[in-house]
Amino acid sequence: MPKLTVRDLNVRGKRVFVRVDYNVPLEEKDGQMAITDATRIVETLPTLRLLIEQGGKLILAAHLGRPKGKREASMSLRPVAVKLAELLGRAVAFVDDCIGEKVEKTAEVLKPGDVLLLENVRYYNEEETNDPAFAEKLAKVAEVYVNDAFGAAHRAHASTEGVARVVARRGGQCAAGLLMERELKFLGEELDNPAPPFVVILGGAKVSDKIQVIDRLLEKADALLIGGAMAYTFRLAQGHKTGKSLVEADKTETAVSALNKAKQRNVKFLLPVDDVVAEPVKTEKLDKKGKPVIDYQNVRVSSSLDCPDNAAGLDIGPQTVKNYSDEIAKSRTILWNGPMGLFEDKRFAEGTNAVARAVADVTQKGAKSIIGGGDSVKALNKAKLGDKVTFMSEGKVLPGVAALSDKK
Ligand code: AMP
Repeated sequence: MPKLTVRDLNVRGKRVFVRVDYNVPLEEKDGQMAITDATRIVETLPTLRLLIEQGGKLILAAHLGRPKGKREASMSLRPVAVKLAELLGRAVAFVDDCIGEKVEKTAEVLKPGDVLLLENVRYYNEEETNDPAFAEKLAKVAEVYVNDAFGAAHRAHASTEGVARVVARRGGQCAAGLLMERELKFLGEELDNPAPPFVVILGGAKVSDKIQVIDRLLEKADALLIGGAMAYTFRLAQGHKTGKSLVEADKTETAVSALNKAKQRNVKFLLPVDDVVAEPVKTEKLDKKGKPVIDYQNVRVSSSLDCPDNAAGLDIGPQTVKNYSDEIAKSRTILWNGPMGLFEDKRFAEGTNAVARAVADVTQKGAKSIIGGGDSVKALNKAKLGDKVTFMSEGKVLPGVAALSDKK
């Protein structure tokens, strides 16, 4: 179902809560933070101008960096307000909070065409946990919701998903901005009516990041192939040992319900049948973030579904590669999101590379392939196969899109 976009709205006199992507690079200069690249701000101007022309009262929300729930002065959006005013050629009000009385008072006196930028939503931990009470607070000033932050739509956070739900519940409209519309057009058209067999390949670190997508895709896909660390949460759910593999132990129920849904709907749900495992050992060396670099020793293929206690599963094994490649070769539409293993390390990149080759091959034979997610895009480019697929999107999975209103 196509999503409502800003072109479909009539926002005259209404307060429009716009989630934008203003996660811009900043540098300290003479004791002040300065924006070193304003591309992200520039890109939002068409959406903002359209809403201003329509006479909306704009309230912009965004995150900047990872302040982890604290008011980090270096991650304030204040410099963005200054830059945005300069680019828009009109005043941009700024409130040093994203919820509360000050925000509500300022929003109340906005006139049609006025623009207000709120402070970093990630000054609150509740943003990333998508806390319902926090979403209600954010939504207090919102009559209409617009999401133009495609890059943030893959996470179900309060400002990307929660607020939309609150606005929709109150009968308000939730629409995609122009940037988001551009991204959705391709993904939407291709994935609304995928030519069967439609094969979805999901990998990467976390089930929790992608569960909404899994749930939605189970209604459309003919087969789901799971790789990456995500696969081990499914293994754990099936009662196997996962050793030192990266798992989300609290997500096993989610995994079980996805497996059940697949069964009900007759969707093939393929999990790895073998793995490349190794023993992680902390070294004295520190990485950029100051964490000890992990050395992986005794790399080997394991065909047991139970991982040895001292080892971690780091890539899909050769039999799994074969199973997945066969399935991909039969497909006519492919959606791929997330690497099959710790592909940054050559020893654990073969699964991801093999999937990339299989996807490129079948695309050459006429299938449509859509690659979503920065890491799968990276992996394809690394394998020099980037131009052999139909469409690559930097976006990952999109609960922020699911929350938007459908076009009538
Ligand atoms: P995501 O952002 O969820 O798509 O996760 C991508 C990251 O997951 C990449 O950095 C991969 O190295 C990592 N990853 C994938 N499989 C594994 C695995 N089996 N163990 C550890 N990390 C993994």
